Amino acid sequence: MSLTLTVEGDRWRAHLRAVAAAQPGLVPVAKGNGYGFGLGRLARKAAWLGVDTLAVGTYDELPEVASRYGGDLLVLTPWRPFGAALEVPADVRKRLVHTVSRAEDLGALRAHDPDARFVLEVVTSMLRHGLDPAGLRAAAEQLGPLGLFRGSRHLTGIALHLPLASGSHLSEVRRLVDEVVAAGLVREGRRTTLWVSHLTDDELARLRSTHADFDIRPRVGTNLWLGVRDALHVTATVLDVHAVERGDHFGYRGRSAPKSGHIVVVTGGTAHGIGLEAPTGDSSLKARAATLARGGLDAAGFVRSPFTIDGKQRLFAEPPHMQASMLFLPSGAHVPAVGDQVDVRVRYTATAFDRVVVT
Ligand SMILES: *Cc1c(COP(=O)(O)O)cnc(C)c1O
Repeated sequence: MSLTLTVEGDRWRAHLRAVAAAQPGLVPVAKGNGYGFGLGRLARKAAWLGVDTLAVGTYDELPEVASRYGGDLLVLTPWRPFGAALEVPADVRKRLVHTVSRAEDLGALRAHDPDARFVLEVVTSMLRHGLDPAGLRAAAEQLGPLGLFRGSRHLTGIALHLPLASGSHLSEVRRLVDEVVAAGLVREGRRTTLWVSHLTDDELARLRSTHADFDIRPRVGTNLWLGVRDALHVTATVLDVHAVERGDHFGYRGRSAPKSGHIVVVTGGTAHGIGLEAPTGDSSLKARAATLARGGLDAAGFVRSPFTIDGKQRLFAEPPHMQASMLFLPSGAHVPAVGDQVDVRVRYTATAFDRVVVT
């Protein structure tokens, strides 16, 4: 009765192990919907992998992971002097590594928690969060007199969030590291940790050789948890099947069947993140007129669904409901039985599964 994610456990775990072995200092990222697996499961897997730090997206996500994983917790959303960042219970707070992205937040963070550990985020070409060169200098100035940095364990490194660029990131990384050095945030003779995202294995290897006095720690979510897509299977259950003739009415909107076939009701709807996909084929007016002339279903306003029945991705008979979807199966196709499983194509990071089954 569920929208189910089935995971081939052996292959998945072997992949997780291989990534961790290939990337010393790996920081798994568990955020949002837990990449489809759920935050709690990813937290337990991080513990099983034996990593010393797990990254979460937000302070609000901490309760779900903190009891299942015992190491340090890096929060990716930058600390601000308001909101959930100020409400972390003391036992969890001790395990946190905050992200500081504005020089003016340093004093406030110290006032809030004198023992706080943090990374300084440098703004990249993504322009999401982070310090620019002036901000880095301002941070360096504050850290000196406050005693937060010199000889202390509070500043645990520099963080860079890089775009999913197809080209090489390395020239950007080198330039940003130079800015950090120029700002006086790297002490000679002392190792500095650089927390990075979205570098390829090759880029990481080259960075490690050109910047040997830096410990490079990759934060990885997608390529870790979702790295073996064909070990993941998403299925819905057929809940009902109704034969219809052309002109029969169905659905919330009482629309009529454009030709004979079946209405197939499957599990999975808007609450799971099942949405309308782009209309099929060419959407130009001319193409639509041509399909209309052929009596095509998409021209009748039917939109492609992510559900596959009898080898083909089928059309929604109407927009998905909250927990179920009505599909139109034209006559001629093999009609599934109530209880059958059908494959569903989803975006894992945007889907709330009813069940995750690891075999
Ligand atoms: C989400 C995120 C990551 C991980 O991204 P993936 O593409 O899932 O590997 C790394 N760093 C930051 C700051 C993030 O927000």
